[in-house]
Amino acid sequence: MTTPVNPLTPGLYIVATPIGNLGDLSPRAAEVLAGADVIAVEDTRVTAGLLRHIGTKRPMTPYHDHNAEHVRPQLIARMASEVVALVSDAGTPLISDPGYKLVRDARAAGHQVVTIPGPCAAIAALTLAGLPTDRFFFLGFLPAKEQARAAAIAEVAAVRATLVIYESGPRLSACLSALADGLGDREAAVTREITKKFEEAVTGTLSTLAARYADAPPRGEIVVVVAPPAPPAPMAIEDADAALAEALTRLPASKAAGEVAKAFGVDRKALYARALEMKGDSVA
Ligand code: SAM
Repeated sequence: MTTPVNPLTPGLYIVATPIGNLGDLSPRAAEVLAGADVIAVEDTRVTAGLLRHIGTKRPMTPYHDHNAEHVRPQLIARMASEVVALVSDAGTPLISDPGYKLVRDARAAGHQVVTIPGPCAAIAALTLAGLPTDRFFFLGFLPAKEQARAAAIAEVAAVRATLVIYESGPRLSACLSALADGLGDREAAVTREITKKFEEAVTGTLSTLAARYADAPPRGEIVVVVAPPAPPAPMAIEDADAALAEALTRLPASKAAGEVAKAFGVDRKALYARALEMKGDSVA
């Protein structure tokens, strides 16, 4: 049975919950849930199970896209004197889940907002995929309709970051094919059932993964992780010759080299030497 160690001060507490394995609920999250006056939940049955796991019962109020406009002002009013916790069915609230307007309005009303971080499928998938993690771009769920999905993919084709996408089993293969069409056949990982019994990460190119899942849509919850675009091949100095020759008709060698170096992203010193060569001089 979890009981709060210290009385919590009134406000809004954003509480991350497990994405499968209940052992991932942090002690601090359990403490806040046990001490909450009310917990805003997506589905009371799901959160009741979590509360049972920590041996507590707290009042819950459903908070989801269909009732948020009506329920939000009530929750905001209660935060003045009560501890209001927000959870989603799994993972971190606000990440492809409701909550940002509640945080926005709580701040606007001057209430304390506290986060209790923890599991998030997007972050967990990045740790499994074996793809670069220094820059990543979270896309959430792509549109279900083919045209809108292709447009959303085209929008991020030039983004120099690993892409993270939430997807469902039945749509997985079509999604992977659309990604291959829109991005090129990049390396990717399909991560599935993270922290659960059948957790797996299958890696390959987008097209091989699309083929693998075409006839056998996988069960369970899925995150697709896609490698960033390959870096452009470094430009050879000769590729800038035409531009340099043109610049030399207008400018002295050092200025021409500077202008072209900036435009082409190539080394200024090397371009200067090239410019002198073109003019028949040589570098001292
Ligand atoms: N707020 C959650 C979070 O922090 O990850 C995400 C909620 S979103 C409505 C649900 C989606 O997250 C699922 O459709 C799936 O794409 C992904 N997801 C959630 N749990 C997962 C798990 N255990 N393994 C893989 N993907 C998961």
